[in-house]
Amino acid sequence: MEKIAVIGFGCAGFRAVQAIRKAGCDAVIDVYSDTDIPPYNPMLTTYYVKGAIPYEALFPFGSLEKIIREMDIHFHAEKPVTDLDPAGKILRFADGSQERYDKILTSTGASAVMPPLPGIDLPGVFKMRTAQDAVQLKGMLEKGEIKSALVIGASWVGIKVVEDMVAYGVPCTLVDGAKWMFYVAAFEETAKRAQADLEAKGVQVACEQMLSHIEREENGQLTAVMQNGRRFTAATIATDCRTTGP
Ligand SMILES: Cc1cc2nc3c(=O)[nH]c(=O)nc-3n(C[C@H](O)[C@H](O)[C@H](O)COP(=O)(O)OP(=O)(O)OC[C@H]3O[C@@H](n4cnc5c(N)ncnc54)[C@H](O)[C@@H]3O)c2cc1C
Repeated sequence: MEKIAVIGFGCAGFRAVQAIRKAGCDAVIDVYSDTDIPPYNPMLTTYYVKGAIPYEALFPFGSLEKIIREMDIHFHAEKPVTDLDPAGKILRFADGSQERYDKILTSTGASAVMPPLPGIDLPGVFKMRTAQDAVQLKGMLEKGEIKSALVIGASWVGIKVVEDMVAYGVPCTLVDGAKWMFYVAAFEETAKRAQADLEAKGVQVACEQMLSHIEREENGQLTAVMQNGRRFTAATIATDCRTTGP
């Protein structure tokens, strides 16, 4: 029987498999995922962190068991694909194994781009992209482990992470390299209103601050040093990374 391989099982992978079955195709469908969780909606992660929705609400299509049963798929959890041989129609995996396929769909989504700057991988520097990122951040906020936060990047994800910090009463500073917040999406006047709203909630906002590097102090505090020499110190730093395709 024909074997269809699907790499990555986010919303795109799920919808593609759904469409394949809806079209009446009865091929064997092997779904390879680098996680063991059902397809989820990354845009809901920050709402989960601040407690606006429960964890289960991240998963709009239900449990893996239900999806596997209803779509009749072979789900291969924690099986990241590392290599593809299109001539031989072979997939290779991180654990050294390999599988054959007849047709293939790549739906590996996007990943957060961490700027390659010194200190970006220090403990206490976060990104917000996956359900696992959200679980980690929420856990730290609930335990009161985040005493202060600096969020780098004042666009959609950064603003939502700031909202999470505000919800837990964490003193927060938001910086961005552009002239004003939401630089690519908002006129200056609109951005200034959004900034005033944040400042009314106690958030410090500083624009035209381009990150140079991050340092860790002896007491564990992190300091983000800007290209203009300005220094912002906080216990935790979250970056509003751009996302990019594979
Ligand atoms: C905080 C946040 C807010 C957002 N807000 C919005 C919004 O308001 N509106 C909007 O339109 N979009 C928003 N987005 C973007 C939106 O979530 C993505 O565009 C969408 O998730 C893309 O879906 P996808 O299925 O293509 O990829 P993904 O959801 O990224 O799924 C891809 C899957 O493939 C897996 N994978 C990757 N590589 C491999 C591999 N080699 N082997 C096996 N598996 C692999 C990944 O782990 C992942 O599970 C937001 C994103 C974030 C993080």
